[in-house]
Amino acid sequence: MALLETHNLTAFYGDFQALYGIDTTLEKGETIAIIGANGAGKSTFLKSIAGLIHGSADSVLLDGNPIGARPAAEIVKLGIALVPEGRRLFPSLTVEENLLIGGYGRKTSGPWTLDRVQALFPILKERRSSATPTLSGGQQQMVAIGRALMSNPCILLCDEISLGLAPIVIADIYAALPRIKAEGTSVVLVEQDVVQAMKVADRVYCFQEGRLSLTGRPRDLTRDQIHRAYFGT
Ligand code: ATP
Repeated sequence: MALLETHNLTAFYGDFQALYGIDTTLEKGETIAIIGANGAGKSTFLKSIAGLIHGSADSVLLDGNPIGARPAAEIVKLGIALVPEGRRLFPSLTVEENLLIGGYGRKTSGPWTLDRVQALFPILKERRSSATPTLSGGQQQMVAIGRALMSNPCILLCDEISLGLAPIVIADIYAALPRIKAEGTSVVLVEQDVVQAMKVADRVYCFQEGRLSLTGRPRDLTRDQIHRAYFGT
């Protein structure tokens, strides 16, 4: 049985339908990437899993149990943590306080401690007493990822973690993903940067206008297939 499954997942904003019947699976320790153009529904997909948007209860299954109707706070306790687009740090708190807040109500089982997170991103230990607005964009993104890991998730949902960052900084952040995976944490990566996504993902799902347009292992997909699935040309 897959760790996480979406089955015929739909999502609405009022009358507007953002997702149409999305079927996906995520195995334990696996990294999947959700790619697609602006407005394809990638963030909506993550929000549906994180309990910020609700479809039918059985459209999201964790270990086979329906969680699609659970509120976000409960979803975190079940072991699913979101790194939101735009990071959403607490600006008046220090780096360390931001991390500790992520551990509020954490699962007791799981590998992630403050020490482990600081070992993953050593700069977060060096800058632990700094207010987050004084950090660079890349460092802030590390705080956002670290804060999510502090809840000890079995699944980490990452929304556009490379957005607005310089290539060298993106490389630093992406270097952490195999180490997160090595701890047994599964990752769902929403990414507009297809090249980056293909490097780290075990499998890729491409969305187009709310529908799944392509899925497969990166090595099995051709550039042409991806181009068509991404842009619809
Ligand atoms: P982006 O890369 O721009 O974030 P995305 O693939 O993550 O794109 P979503 O943010 O999931 O796409 O948006 C999917 C669709 O839902 C878009 O057409 C968007 O305009 C619409 N949408 C998103 N959030 C809302 C909202 N709060 N209210 C109404 N429509 C929304």
